Amino acid sequence: MSSTTDAPTDPPIVEAPEHTPFSSMLQRFDRAAELLGLDDGLYRILKEPERELKVAIPLQRDDGSLEVLSGWRVQHNSAMGPCKGGIRYSPHVDVDEVRALAAWMTWKSAIVNVPFGGAKGGVCCNAREMSIKELERVTRRYTIAIMDIIGPDRDVPAPDMYTNEQVMAWIMDTYSMHQRHTVTGVVTGKPWGLGGSMGRREATGRGLLTMVREASLVKELDLANARVVVQGAGNVGATIATLLDEIGVKIIAISDIDGGLVNTGGLDVPAVVAHLDKNGSLDGFAEGERCSNDELLELECDILLPCATENQITSRNADKLRCKIIVEGANGPTSANADDILDANDIFVIPDILANAGGVVVSYFEWVQDRMGYFWDERDVNNRLHRLMQKAFRRVLDRTKSSAVNMRTAAYMEGIDRVAYFTKMRGIYP
Ligand code: NAD
Repeated sequence: MSSTTDAPTDPPIVEAPEHTPFSSMLQRFDRAAELLGLDDGLYRILKEPERELKVAIPLQRDDGSLEVLSGWRVQHNSAMGPCKGGIRYSPHVDVDEVRALAAWMTWKSAIVNVPFGGAKGGVCCNAREMSIKELERVTRRYTIAIMDIIGPDRDVPAPDMYTNEQVMAWIMDTYSMHQRHTVTGVVTGKPWGLGGSMGRREATGRGLLTMVREASLVKELDLANARVVVQGAGNVGATIATLLDEIGVKIIAISDIDGGLVNTGGLDVPAVVAHLDKNGSLDGFAEGERCSNDELLELECDILLPCATENQITSRNADKLRCKIIVEGANGPTSANADDILDANDIFVIPDILANAGGVVVSYFEWVQDRMGYFWDERDVNNRLHRLMQKAFRRVLDRTKSSAVNMRTAAYMEGIDRVAYFTKMRGIYP
């Protein structure tokens, strides 16, 4: 809008994030630790990451120029087994984000009861604008830089934002070349046939499907008549949209980093996913109306699935949400300040550390299959995944009742309680 006076206009207000991902994690951790009456020494052990490795990654671009990228691998806790957690390529990644993601992996593995600790890795780069050869060079150099601290019995990476099966295959190959033999168990999320598991690619989305079903039962929501909004259309978002569509649930909106696509009558999900696969963007899709990611979150619906990135639901917009259930496919999509607002508005939130644990569950299955050299069929993987996720949901739900807390606090209590118990059993070395 143009100004009608000559008065100087105020500069635009740039909002600082109300929480960094790690401070959001700590705020929830503190609340759960207090309710558990966690011993002060254990509190200090569990809060602190065990190890943080910062690496510099020289990258020769295809045009011959040289850049140096920053990368990290953070191992938060290994009390329950080898560390486990994805690797993210993103221009926004920093050590705070990787630290939070690593801690969330610790609680997540404990909640679903798989024998892993928590870790995460990240490289600060814009993968969307890199060639395949540049991505391969970054991946191989990053693998070498973190090689001393990863391994099937130490720390097992997996895909996360802007990394995929191809990236995992390069990591496995690079690690194997240096070990002088093939070590498939060093990463999960590999292609099938290279030690990958059936069902791993869809695992996080499939775990979300169990959460959607369980949450709908609790809230007595008829899924056949439900309207669902999905933020993010990558591995997690596109998979859950497809799975819900396959069982006849109406997806009324979906988005990617550039914005959303809405059709209140229901989107043609297979066509949207095919368009995304072909064009890498929702732009140019014939059906529906475009909206911003902010508008998408505020659409009236029954179930909202944030499946993109952190800090999407904050005290700035939490009061404007018009859904009954939130199932967090992304890690950290909700800031700690938004929790109370969502509770006050009676929105049932299935928190990230429970909801998106399907990925780590099938990563565990993949790691087990690699060690056995014996591979299961997809139905076996999916059935086992469903059982573990359903059990975890019900354990967390039980705790909401026994401790009179919401699902997020109950999930943190479950995870922290288990890791604290095993830390105590192991004792403090020396
Ligand atoms: P992905 O790279 O496959 O897809 C990310 C999607 O989010 C893309 O559609 C992208 O356009 C969109 N996006 C990115 N930034 C955005 C923004 N600022 N606003 C709106 N949309 C944005 O990544 P993914 O593997 O699907 O991961 C998505 C989320 O799920 C992340 O938080 C990740 O940590 C979490 N997660 C992933 C897995 C897994 O197995 N891949 C497991 C557990 C949790």
